[in-house]
Amino acid sequence: MNPADSLVCWKCGATLKDVPMPLSRLSECLACRAELHVCLQCRFYDPRKPEGCTEERADPPKDKQRANFCDYFEPRASAFRPRDTSAISKAQEELKRLFGKS
Ligand SMILES: [Zn+2]
Repeated sequence: MNPADSLVCWKCGATLKDVPMPLSRLSECLACRAELHVCLQCRFYDPRKPEGCTEERADPPKDKQRANFCDYFEPRASAFRPRDTSAISKAQEELKRLFGKS
């Protein structure tokens, strides 16, 4: 199986299997036109790091959503992160509690 088949857009979650590989700085999502050669699509991206990158030799751009020239870029499967649903369900729990439903 082509590894690109499992890649999805970091922004909208659409499959990238129809996007020419390897991703280049000009690559964009066919569904939402998001630029794909970006930190948020990269396996080295880590928001917990000060630079947002686990590749120490890289010089990560400040803007994690803009196409970059990074030589260390490697697309990551499951780059798409739906909004944090735990916060939502927590709020729903709280509402239920307030209104006395369980
Ligand atoms: Zn997209």
